[in-house]
Amino acid sequence: MAQLDSSSVALTGTKTFQNYIGGEWVDSASGETFESTSPATGESIGIFPKSTAEDVDRAVAAAKAAVEEWRLVPAPQRGEILYRFANLLTEEKDDLTDLMSHEMGKVKAEAGGDVQEAIDMSLYMAGEGRRMFGQTTPSELRDKFNMSVRQPIGVVGAITPWNFPIAIPSWKIAPALVCGNTVVFKPATDTPALGERFVELFADAGLPAGVLNIVHGGGGAVGDRLVKHPDVRVITLTGSRETGVEVMRNAADGLKHVHLELGGKNAIIVLDDADLELAVEGIVWSAFGTSGQRCTAASRVIVQDGVYEQLQSKLVAVAEKMRLGPGWEDDTDVGPVINKRALEKIHSYTEIGKGEGAKLLTGGEVATDDGLDKGFFYRPTIFGDVDPQMRVAQEEIFGPTTALIRVKDVDEAIRVSNGINYGLSSSIFTRDVNKAFRAMRDLEAGITYINAGTIGAEVHLPFGGTKDTGNGHREAGQAALDVFTEWKSIYVDYSGKLQKAQIDTAS
Ligand code: NAD
Repeated sequence: MAQLDSSSVALTGTKTFQNYIGGEWVDSASGETFESTSPATGESIGIFPKSTAEDVDRAVAAAKAAVEEWRLVPAPQRGEILYRFANLLTEEKDDLTDLMSHEMGKVKAEAGGDVQEAIDMSLYMAGEGRRMFGQTTPSELRDKFNMSVRQPIGVVGAITPWNFPIAIPSWKIAPALVCGNTVVFKPATDTPALGERFVELFADAGLPAGVLNIVHGGGGAVGDRLVKHPDVRVITLTGSRETGVEVMRNAADGLKHVHLELGGKNAIIVLDDADLELAVEGIVWSAFGTSGQRCTAASRVIVQDGVYEQLQSKLVAVAEKMRLGPGWEDDTDVGPVINKRALEKIHSYTEIGKGEGAKLLTGGEVATDDGLDKGFFYRPTIFGDVDPQMRVAQEEIFGPTTALIRVKDVDEAIRVSNGINYGLSSSIFTRDVNKAFRAMRDLEAGITYINAGTIGAEVHLPFGGTKDTGNGHREAGQAALDVFTEWKSIYVDYSGKLQKAQIDTAS
């Protein structure tokens, strides 16, 4: 098993890190620290400040002071900084990919994709600097001009998970900045080094002091204060359903704008007429990619009777050939899961599934051979004969576990796919265009793929989900602008007299 390459650790410059507040690298008021370690080997990635409410207050004060000037910088110039940031990400892509495979654990191809998504998002949002369209409309009165414009909201608190440690911060921070807001960023405690590099690159791109600040630390201390701070106007959080509910509650007193991207329990439907080889590829990629730790991971596969047995044996055969190992090794198919707690949770669902009467077809155990015991590795796991109401078919496991559910036709398949609390991603493999269009219309999800797995979103379309996956907002594309701006309607009367809407128009 490969050891952590010291040059990779050196990517982050030093092993002890600080917060970035008002353009300065500073220690936490607490003087306490926490360590980031590799989920593949347990080796140290770096030491980070365990920050407090006091640190958050300083960061919010810096962001609040900076917004007064930043909101007046012409949006195309704000966009220029995003272009420079995208270029720096491109230059650093290999190093960031390597760091990600060490700190978060995902395999190199996926880590590169994570960085690429941030490049794409930054370029897309840089272009918004020259668009950010509002409307102009006719007035109901003579000699009067009407328009609407987007305006920045103020200080944004961006709270992110560890599973897309560069991409998800970019989904939030790039649109927030181009719209003229300032940001206090709290990355997950499992991936602080990547959060740190993200902010460093923005500083290198020429972002003025205070416009983007980072405060490291846990959800309880740092996240909680950010959510409750009276000067933070927008909270954008990606995380679990439980965290989302707590954040929404805590933000209620301050009537904040709250944008939540939460969990999923996504399904792939495979109908009798599907291209089975393609379906297997799509399922394996969606269920076991990123070790199943994607909000869009396929943790259910709903299979029509006629192809159930065939699909099951093909899937098991592929899953059993997958090689577990550190993400930075070229021949690794499945990397580690993020930490011990996650490993235990994933395994507890194996026990739950067995207890519920689901048939364990493969996997279902912690992998410890060939040095894997130094990290957190779980074998790709497939349950068969799963009842749609079982917990393994209803609850988010967030690991390399998927459940096969047998159905008789497309109606039942859609009903089962919809029969959960979440509504993020969905997919159907079929060659029947009529059934594909019915699925597009009837699947209750923010995203539907036809003849592809449940993952593969592109940055210029809205991203997010229905039901318990969120609170109605969307990330990415034009939809992201709605999270980070408020509309102002402007009426310009050039008639020289007082004209009364709805009154002077009466004939
Ligand atoms: P998590 O909810 O444990 O943590 C997410 C972030 O919230 C972390 O930075 C954490 O420190 C912070 N946090 C925790 N409690 C908080 C509180 N009370 N107040 C403020 N902040 C708090 O989630 P995780 O384990 O990091 O990520 C996995 C979850 O994220 C899964 O449920 C997954 O589906 C979801 N996710 C959703 C999407 C999406 O776009 N819908 C994308 C990726 C991940």
